[in-house]
Amino acid sequence: MLSKLLSILKLKCPQCRKGNLLVGNPYRLSHFNKVNDSCRYCKLNFKIEPSFFYGSMYVSYGLGVGISIAIYLILLLLGLAKGMIQNFIIITVGLILLMPYINALSKVIWAGFFFKFDPEYIED
Ligand SMILES: [Zn+2]
Repeated sequence: MLSKLLSILKLKCPQCRKGNLLVGNPYRLSHFNKVNDSCRYCKLNFKIEPSFFYGSMYVSYGLGVGISIAIYLILLLLGLAKGMIQNFIIITVGLILLMPYINALSKVIWAGFFFKFDPEYIED
């Protein structure tokens, strides 16, 4: 069984932690941002109402701010934080590169607010 954090980072179904929430790899542009209709293992319906995953934008915003701060702190620790414009460009490039994963991660976290883990699926 995956721990909750690991299942979130691996973009798994919040109920069984085995099936994938997304149709494919978030960096594969043909499947970008597409969520499966239901879980392949536990048959959980991911789309409980129209536009359900729009709410994940709130999570995405929080993740974006957190990652921006983390990138800035890494720049400070490495002594690479030279000027405001340079820092801004590095943070922006980092966010653009991470955007597909941040987007996918925010959907998994958002789904986790509404679907609870079911220990029935722990075995195997
Ligand atoms: Zn599932």
